[in-house]
Amino acid sequence: MKLIAGVDIGNSTTEVCISQIDSEGKMRFLSSSSRATTGTKGTVANTAGIIDALGNAMEKIKKPVNELSLIRINEAAPVIGDTAMETITETIITESSMIGHNPSTPAGAGQAAGMTIYLEHLSEGREETPYIVVAGSGTSYDEIAKTINQHAKRLFIVGLILQADEGVLVENRLDRKLPIVDEVKRIHDIPEWKEAAIEVALAGQTIRMLSNPYGIATLLKLNAEETRAVTPIAKSLIGKRSAVVIKTPHGNVKENILPAGEIRIHAKEDCIVSIDAGADKIMEVLAGAGEVQDISGQKNTNIGNMLEKIRSGMGELTKEQAGEIKITDILAVDTLAPVMIAGSLAGETCMEKAVGVAAMVKTKQLPMEKIAEELKKQLHIYVKVAGVEAVMAALGALTTPGTKLPLAILDLGGGSTDAAIIHEDGNVAITHKAGAGELVSMLIQTELGLSSRYIAEEIKKYPLAKIESLYHMRLESGAIHFFDEPVEPKYFGNVVLLKPDDMIILEDDIPMEKIVFVRKEAKKKVFVKNAIRALTEVAPEHNLRRIDHVVLVGGSAEDFEVPEMLMEEFANYKIVCGRGNIRASEGPRNAVATGLVLSYIGAGNDHK
Ligand code: ADP
Ligand code: MG
Repeated sequence: MKLIAGVDIGNSTTEVCISQIDSEGKMRFLSSSSRATTGTKGTVANTAGIIDALGNAMEKIKKPVNELSLIRINEAAPVIGDTAMETITETIITESSMIGHNPSTPAGAGQAAGMTIYLEHLSEGREETPYIVVAGSGTSYDEIAKTINQHAKRLFIVGLILQADEGVLVENRLDRKLPIVDEVKRIHDIPEWKEAAIEVALAGQTIRMLSNPYGIATLLKLNAEETRAVTPIAKSLIGKRSAVVIKTPHGNVKENILPAGEIRIHAKEDCIVSIDAGADKIMEVLAGAGEVQDISGQKNTNIGNMLEKIRSGMGELTKEQAGEIKITDILAVDTLAPVMIAGSLAGETCMEKAVGVAAMVKTKQLPMEKIAEELKKQLHIYVKVAGVEAVMAALGALTTPGTKLPLAILDLGGGSTDAAIIHEDGNVAITHKAGAGELVSMLIQTELGLSSRYIAEEIKKYPLAKIESLYHMRLESGAIHFFDEPVEPKYFGNVVLLKPDDMIILEDDIPMEKIVFVRKEAKKKVFVKNAIRALTEVAPEHNLRRIDHVVLVGGSAEDFEVPEMLMEEFANYKIVCGRGNIRASEGPRNAVATGLVLSYIGAGNDHK
C-alpha cells in the first residue's frame, strides 16, 4: 500500500488530494485540502503553500507528510490571466464647486438661489441681493440663529449652509424658515460672493432641481453651453436629500486630454478597433480576427498605457523582457466608473461610461520542474510534473456523478476562464480566456464605488437582505424571513450580507436593489460571455450544439448564482450544465488535484 498526492497550483488557490493505492492497484481517496497560493503561480515561492497544504491534508488522516511515496503536480498552462482592469473613459473634469450629501437630519425644505456670504460679513450685505449664508462651526447655533434673525430684517436671506450637524437646532430658532444644508465639513472651501443654488428635499423625498441640468440652469441662469457643462454635477446629485451648487465663473470645464484610444489585434490580418465603439464591438472584432498573436494599444492613450502596464507587470513576474510577452486574449466589458469632479467640496464623483479590460498573457513555459526539484529537496519525496492542467481538470470532473464522455468542462478561476473537452477517443481540446472571478470583483468595486476590494469579494459571494425590523428581514428575492429571536438593534434598517453563520452590515449607503443589479450584471458580463467564447472554441466544428454535457469546476463555480446563470444560458443549446461535484464529495473544487492522482493509474509506472 502506498500514499500518493495530487497538487494543483492555481493563480489563487493551491489544492491537494491524497489517495491510497493498495497492492492490487485499487485506489481510494483519503483526504484533501486547499489554501491560498504563495507567490506567483509557477515560481519556486509556491513551495511553501504546497508543503502547508500537504501537511494539512495528511494531518486529517493522522499521518506525517513523509509517508507519501509520490507527489504529482500540474503542468501549468503557460498563460496568466492578469486581473488589471482599468476603466477607460474620456474623463470630463468639471470645475465647479458643489456639495451634495445626505445629512442625517436635514432642516427646512425648498430651493433658493443667491450669493454666498460668510456669517461674519453679513453687515457688508446689500439690500437688493438674495444671500445664502455660510456659517462655520466656530459659532454656536444660538449665535448663528440670532445673527441671521437680526440681519434678516434688512437683508434678503434665502438659505443657509452649516458646518456642524445643527441644522434642526438653528432652524427651530429662526423667525423665518430657510432651506438649510448642514454637516458640510470643508465649509471654508466655499468661495464667498459667488452665485449659488441650494436645495433641501421634503421629508422622505430626494432633491429635484439640482439633480436636473435644467433645474440648475433655472436657478443659476445658465446658457446652453454652461448647462451642458453642469450635467455631470446634476448626475452626481441624483438621489441626494440636499445639495449646493456654486457657480464658478472662470474656466468652468476642462476636457481631459488623454483619448481612450484604439486596440490593435495582431493576427493573420491586423485589426483595429476603437475603445469608444464599446465592449460588444471590441469582442466582435476579436472573435473575427482568428488566432491572435498579440494585442496592443495605440501609444499615449488610455488603452495603450494600460496594456503596456500589463505587459511590463507580467515581464517582472516571469522575468522576461516586456517585448517577449504576448497578450493573446482580452475581455472587454462595458462598465461605469466614478470620475472625481474637480471643485467638489465633499469628494463627489459622477459615474461615466467606461470600458474595462482583462488580459491574458502568454509566457514562456512555466518552470514547474524547478518547483518539483525544490519540493524533492525539502521533503525527500519523489515529485513528478504530471499532466496538463485543463486535461487533469476534465479527468477530475468526470468523477462527478451523472457525467460521461465526451465531456466539456469550464474551469471558472480567478484570472481566467478555461475550457476543455475530452472525447471518447481520448482527444482533448483546451483554451484559456481572459477574465474570471477577479474581474467580477473589480467591476462590483468600481460600479458601486466601494473603498475596498475585500467588500466587493464579499458582495460577490453572498446574498443580501434588508433588516426591516428586529423581528424580520426582506430577502433580496422579496421574500420575508422572520427571526426566531429578535436581532440586535445595530442591524435595524441596514442592508446585510447573509453569510452562512453571520450577518455582515454593509456600511456603504447603497440601496439593496442597486447592489443586486450590479452584482448580477458583472457576473453575466464576465462569465456568460466567457463561457460561450471558451466552449465555442473547443466545441467540434466550433458548434455549441455539438456539446452535450458541461461540468463547472474551479473557485467561481462555487458562486451561488453563476452556475444557474450558465445553466439557463446553455439550456438554449440543449446542453446539460451544472456545478461539478468532484468524487461526489468535493463540490466544484479539487478537480485538477483529483485528475492528477487518477492519471497515475493510466500513466502506469512513472516512478519506481
Ligand atoms: P485558480 O485556479 O486560478 O487558483 P480558483 O479556482 O481558486 O482559482 O478560483 C478563484 C476565484 O474563485 C476567485 O476569484 C474567488 O473570488 C472565487 N471564489 C471562491 N469562492 C467563491 C464563492 N463561494 N463564490 C464566488 N466566488 C468564489
Ligand atoms: Mg484552477
